[in-house]
Amino acid sequence: MTDKKETALTSRRNFLKKALEGATAATAAASVPVPALATAVTKPKKQYAMVIDTRRCIGCHACSVACKSEFDVPLGVYRSWVEYTDKGDYPSVQRTFLPRLCNHCSEPPCVYVCPTGATWKREDNGVVVIDKDICIGCKYCIQACPYDMRFYNPVTGTADKCDFCEHRTSRGLEPSCVNTCQGRARIFGDITDPESEVSRLLAKHSVTVLREGMGTHPNVYYIEADHTDESEKEYRDTYIRVTTHRKIKERR
Ligand code: SF4
Ligand code: SF4
Ligand code: SF4
Repeated sequence: MTDKKETALTSRRNFLKKALEGATAATAAASVPVPALATAVTKPKKQYAMVIDTRRCIGCHACSVACKSEFDVPLGVYRSWVEYTDKGDYPSVQRTFLPRLCNHCSEPPCVYVCPTGATWKREDNGVVVIDKDICIGCKYCIQACPYDMRFYNPVTGTADKCDFCEHRTSRGLEPSCVNTCQGRARIFGDITDPESEVSRLLAKHSVTVLREGMGTHPNVYYIEADHTDESEKEYRDTYIRVTTHRKIKERR
């Protein structure tokens, strides 16, 4: 980036940040909630989605590593990871895997709370994206995501998350994690196309999504996923441990 462009972007972000701080202070003084300057979500023409067949996942973390290196994701934060659940009492024990990434929700709370319009759902393919030139790093969206799939990037000073590898899919390539998965547990495609592999999988299998009750309508679907949480009462007398980068424990 040239010095001139960098200076222009910094000024734009500082302007937006100050404008928002001003609005927030004025609203606080008036003792009313901070307004959510909601961006409307239009039904996209296509909807990119991912089907994750957990029967084929071997927990090798190749997808998480590919994602990290594709985007130079800083240490300590993640666009994608693989959770595992250890469950049962010796000798009857089981480990299951649950790969995680942004769900590119059809009703994305992260988009609705963003005060600058820096994050939105694309009308052409339904991917939820972030414009880092507009993002002021206020972290509202990070708080709003019920899946903990956003993080604050300390290098860019903005929100960050999976974008379904836009730089690859716009050139007809598969996302990096899909390309790397040796078990073909991650399948990517357009669910509005009935002939796509994701559509065929959805027609053939009973699938689940994460936290369906939140009404976010995720576009990442799981085949035979184990959504068990440590807090579930039916497992009170059974050893169970979920290894994850999530802050929120709930998975249903
Ligand atoms: S998973 Fe989180 S970050 Fe992704 S679209 Fe849904 S609410 Fe937004
Ligand atoms: S941190 Fe999130 S909510 Fe705040 S401006 Fe950036 S994208 Fe929008
Ligand atoms: S689609 Fe791209 S950004 Fe998203 S989890 Fe896979 S590699 Fe990471």
